[in-house]
Amino acid sequence: MAKVLGMRCRECGQDYPTSPIHVCELCFGPLEVVLNWEEITPKISREKIAAGPPSMWRYWDLLPVEGPPTVGKHVGFTPLVKAERLGHELGLKNLYIKNDAVNYPTLSF
Ligand SMILES: [Zn+2]
Repeated sequence: MAKVLGMRCRECGQDYPTSPIHVCELCFGPLEVVLNWEEITPKISREKIAAGPPSMWRYWDLLPVEGPPTVGKHVGFTPLVKAERLGHELGLKNLYIKNDAVNYPTLSF
């Protein structure tokens, strides 16, 4: 059974089949993926995710893709960098900045 049931407008609730569209034809609202939780829930666990690859693909069971990844195999798992001087300026003890500039291959995902 498929992980994705279709797409639904967040504003008016109109359902759409899965397709490469992102806005509702009726109200121009954003479309969200409707996941098949009956299919997904038995397959996921905290332990399975933690044991996955050091990339976004450790969340594969929760992503709206049906097959194995064909692009962006190394995307995700980017480091948090402690920004001590900026944190001091802002009055924050522990300020971390997510460095998504090290994502491959786009360097900006
Ligand atoms: Zn709509």
